[in-house]
Amino acid sequence: ALLITKKCINCDMCEPECPNEAITMGDSIYEINTDRCTECIGHYETPTCQKVCPIPNTIIKDPARAENEEQLWDKFVQLHHAD
Ligand code: SF4
Ligand code: SF4
Repeated sequence: ALLITKKCINCDMCEPECPNEAITMGDSIYEINTDRCTECIGHYETPTCQKVCPIPNTIIKDPARAENEEQLWDKFVQLHHAD
């Protein structure tokens, strides 16, 4: 999963772009729900939030939630094909 760092300026660009509704406004900056972030696997070649974010290196890999491709695919299946 990815992580939004304190460099976030709350520009609102990333929130509507997430295919998993993983991004929401937190107490002071936007936050990513790690249970919903698939790093965009199954939707886009690269994480779309990173692509639209105007501030470089604001959205990074979450060091506390490192996942391999298989784990990300599992999450995608869980989120989108639960039935
Ligand atoms: Fe959403 Fe993709 Fe960003 Fe994860 S990487 S928060 S799934 S837009
Ligand atoms: Fe923050 Fe970047 Fe999202 Fe804008 S696009 S709200 S700066 S994380």
